[in-house]
Amino acid sequence: MNILVISTPVGAVGSGQGGGVERTLTSLVAGLLERDHSITVLAACGSSLPSRCSAARLWLEAGIDQPSWQHQSHQTPVQIPAGSLLAALWQRALAEQGRFDVLLNLGYDWLPLWLTPHTATPLAHLVSMGSVSAAMDEVIAQVGRSHPRHLAFHTASQAADFDLAQPPVLLGNGFDLSTYRFNPEPLAQLGWAGRIAPEKGLEDAAAAAAALGLPLVVMGLVEDAAYAERVEASVPAGTLRWRGFLAASELQAELGRCRALLNTPKWNEAYGNVVVEALACGVPVASYARGGPAELVQEGLTGALAPADDVQALVAAGRRALGLERQACRHWAETHGSLEAFAARVEAWLQPLSGERPQGRR
Ligand code: UDP
Repeated sequence: MNILVISTPVGAVGSGQGGGVERTLTSLVAGLLERDHSITVLAACGSSLPSRCSAARLWLEAGIDQPSWQHQSHQTPVQIPAGSLLAALWQRALAEQGRFDVLLNLGYDWLPLWLTPHTATPLAHLVSMGSVSAAMDEVIAQVGRSHPRHLAFHTASQAADFDLAQPPVLLGNGFDLSTYRFNPEPLAQLGWAGRIAPEKGLEDAAAAAAALGLPLVVMGLVEDAAYAERVEASVPAGTLRWRGFLAASELQAELGRCRALLNTPKWNEAYGNVVVEALACGVPVASYARGGPAELVQEGLTGALAPADDVQALVAAGRRALGLERQACRHWAETHGSLEAFAARVEAWLQPLSGERPQGRR
């Protein structure tokens, strides 16, 4: 297939502003290239792709980022700023669509979903979040009725947020496991990774780390500085070791040095990339049983689950996770989280859609 992948309208690929979507995009592109598809990525100016994606064409557009939906209230209407990146991306995608067999949207936004019945080239969407907005719920439900096979989700927990007419297409996610090194000898520290924003629940991980008497290495982009300061003030000085946003190679090295990862979603986490990335380094995960992580963590094998928002239970889960066999974590990631298997699932999803394209329009 000749595929146009349209990136998130929030930040450049590689900046961390797009969160897990950035890793999903690079895995998906690398995996599809290896399966001999031709890939063009349309993304914000400043984006860069890892070397495994070097055979992809990269088209860049400039513009003002979309406000991220997860930081608005549920009833916030669709907003498109003047000089919009979203508009620029989709103007280009529509202008160039005749050159492709399928358009694959990774942006969680209203405009591309609304466009689904109106493009000449089939438009598919890998939805990256659960329900955070009434306007998004509505348009996803509409596409779910009119074009159900054009939607895919990461996990069953995520898809259950939406009013879908048919059982959803579930793709999981995938990672370039060759870039995550197994570390059998961690330091006396815990890890936490993600965008530093309220929906990620860092304050609960901080409290649990303090109770467990281990420092917590915090890896990620500070999206909300006031929130980060409140979390820092909530625990004894020295509990948190702030590392900032780390590139993939530094992130995996830092993860591998942790005895366990604490994962504390306050929202219905669509997948939970950092869970699998930690497992790939041999790091067991103690997580709230909410969203994707509840499907990923295998109690007593790769980690431990606690009822959501129960810090005491998270402390107990942390203790259980510390005793687990690190090799079993790596093994689980190899079996369930490879980029190759993910790309094969994406291909199987897109192939029938690409056949819907009207003949003779190339
Ligand atoms: N991440 C990173 N560097 C960091 C911290 C996080 O590259 O210092 C990446 C991490 O590898 C993961 C993504 O950010 O792929 C976060 O994805 P996740 O699905 O955990 O959460 P989201 O941000 O999508 O809510």
